[in-house]
Amino acid sequence: MKYREIFCNNCNKVLGKYNVKYYPESKIAELIKDSHAAHIRQGHHIIIRKSEK
Ligand SMILES: [Zn+2]
Repeated sequence: MKYREIFCNNCNKVLGKYNVKYYPESKIAELIKDSHAAHIRQGHHIIIRKSEK
């Protein structure tokens, strides 16, 4: 299975993991805005990275 991970560089942790089949990049961007806005407000650097497990 392939996943996209929402990863915060500042917290050094994975905030969420989503199956690529159901979550296109645009959906992930929405999730970051809706669910992880606190990190962004604090100036944290969030990246989307691919994962295979
Ligand atoms: Zn963070």
